[in-house]
Amino acid sequence: MTSLTRRALLQASALAATTAALPAHAAAPLATTQAPGVYRYRLGDYQLTALYDGVWQSPIGDDFIRNADAAAVDDALAAAFLPPRVLPISFTALLVNTGAKLVLIDTGTGGQTADSAGALPDALRAAGIAPAAIDTIVISHFHPDHIDGLRSKTGERIFTNAEILVPEPEWAFWMDDGNQSRATGTVFRYFRNARRIFGDLGSAVGRFTPGDEVAPGIVSIPAYGHTPGHCAFAIHSTGRSMLVMSDTVRNPYLFARYPRWQPIFDMDGAQAVASRLTLLERAAADRMLVAAYHFPFPACGHIARRGDGYELVPAEWRPL
Ligand SMILES: [Zn+2]
Repeated sequence: MTSLTRRALLQASALAATTAALPAHAAAPLATTQAPGVYRYRLGDYQLTALYDGVWQSPIGDDFIRNADAAAVDDALAAAFLPPRVLPISFTALLVNTGAKLVLIDTGTGGQTADSAGALPDALRAAGIAPAAIDTIVISHFHPDHIDGLRSKTGERIFTNAEILVPEPEWAFWMDDGNQSRATGTVFRYFRNARRIFGDLGSAVGRFTPGDEVAPGIVSIPAYGHTPGHCAFAIHSTGRSMLVMSDTVRNPYLFARYPRWQPIFDMDGAQAVASRLTLLERAAADRMLVAAYHFPFPACGHIARRGDGYELVPAEWRPL
């Protein structure tokens, strides 16, 4: 049965090759870029807009997961039809229009993480919104791919009128000179970067206590482990709620499917696992709509239980 099906397929592709050789009447040049990534959806009276910043195909080493071997990681990638030893890290920020305020949760990479990312300003423009129109920016944590979009590569502020709200424990950790003096390698770079981004913003930066409502209907949730003050968010509007998971789950084929894996970019692996399991179980049990910064665009959908882990059921494109 398999070989018959396969032969039929091969014959069909031979026919297609013949057809392609016929003279073309409407040749169009091949496109070299995608259209900006903008996807709008509703939650109660709020309008949400997923803004795609890009993707980084990140090579991963054998030590990428502290408690799983490289072969298991490659199997998980293969199950998602992805090549081995490379992790796609997609970046999608979420804009919340409450009807009275524009609130942006995280800011994209500012083109400073990978050449294939940094498109958030284009996406925002395509959505018809000027950066100066953003009222509030809420930051989940201080990793560069979430905060670098606050500035251009040359250091100018992008969102000139926005108040910027950050988790108090995140600020306390990354802005502490003693902590910085003990850091090495990549983590040391993150300390330097946090100072570059926030250093001269002064009163434009407000700090919230995780658990606080940070904007109308947007409540922060402590979800520590990825970083010491990492936050997720719940958004509530007119009897509807959704969960913004930030970086508690990143690539869903790895970390929803195998939520107990501890990747090296979670600073406290065990604490991150606890946060991840709590949010995944809440999303699955309550059948909540979820968004997460590193899910494949449009980075929203639902979480279903699967085996001893979970899976993302992606949202389907639909008109408003
Ligand atoms: Zn991230």
